[in-house]
Amino acid sequence: MKIFSGMPCKRNIYKDKSIYSSQKSIRKLAITFLVGNFFLCSCSVLSIDSKDKIKEKLPPKKEYSNLFFKTISKRIKSIPNRNEKIKYRILKEYGSLWVNNDTEVILPPSVTFSSAKETNNFHKRLSLVKVAGTECLLQESAAKSLEQAIEEAKSQGLNISPRGDDSCIRSYKKTHELWLSRVLPNLDFYLSKKKLTPAEVEKVKQADMWDQVKLVLSIENEKGLLFDKYRQTSILNSVAAPGTSQHLSGLAFDMAQFSDPQVRKIINKYGWYQTIENDLPHFTYLGKVPNQKFLKNNGLKKVSKSGYDFWVPDFENKQT
Ligand SMILES: [Zn+2]
Repeated sequence: MKIFSGMPCKRNIYKDKSIYSSQKSIRKLAITFLVGNFFLCSCSVLSIDSKDKIKEKLPPKKEYSNLFFKTISKRIKSIPNRNEKIKYRILKEYGSLWVNNDTEVILPPSVTFSSAKETNNFHKRLSLVKVAGTECLLQESAAKSLEQAIEEAKSQGLNISPRGDDSCIRSYKKTHELWLSRVLPNLDFYLSKKKLTPAEVEKVKQADMWDQVKLVLSIENEKGLLFDKYRQTSILNSVAAPGTSQHLSGLAFDMAQFSDPQVRKIINKYGWYQTIENDLPHFTYLGKVPNQKFLKNNGLKKVSKSGYDFWVPDFENKQT
């Protein structure tokens, strides 16, 4: 409410008019305006406030032929286009989050937060609660669904627990630290193997955050030098670029028991799916009990690898 408390309200203009009028009828009219305007002001505050709780203001409607883009166009403020290469790739890697159909959650307004301040402002809008029996903070609806999964696992003699102390919501600072924990050792490694020159390494180290992301990804693409922990896959399959992690949303959870197919089946049942290829412990809350049909109908595709199913954005689907 406080955001709108300073909104200009025309109530005083009508009040002034009524003072200078000597005719009763005009006075009555002024009172009618006064009352009407009061309700108008109140209603607009209420309606904006209610909308704000549900989701961000949406951009002008654009028709997408791709099913995934069509789905997320209702839930995200700005969708990157093909020319915004890095953001477009980030959407492809992490975009399943915006298929979420739970109206009680607040989704990030775009694929990346540009700063710690922007992230903090988003976090202030969330209703964050601890998942019972853990130190894990998630958006309330996501936490409740996870608690239900934990209960069902317990009833079958199984456990669902966080993998570490950063398994749920993360700060921008934390995602930055994690990013550097992959980038810096790999730069040193490739320098020692003479795959990168000292000048190339220094350029990456000195770059601004977003330029650094671009440089690392271009080294991966052009030189085939990979930056995940074991240098086996892209850094984006291991840690997110700062400001882009699903963990910033309070809708992601790294589960210790990710390798147990029975536990995965239970957590899937409550709306939690693996959505980032090769990131095995990482689960994303996709809404209130969405089944596989829902995920397909909203533009995700199942990619199966070594017994794991990842639900990722289907950029090829042209279905309308
Ligand atoms: Zn994760």
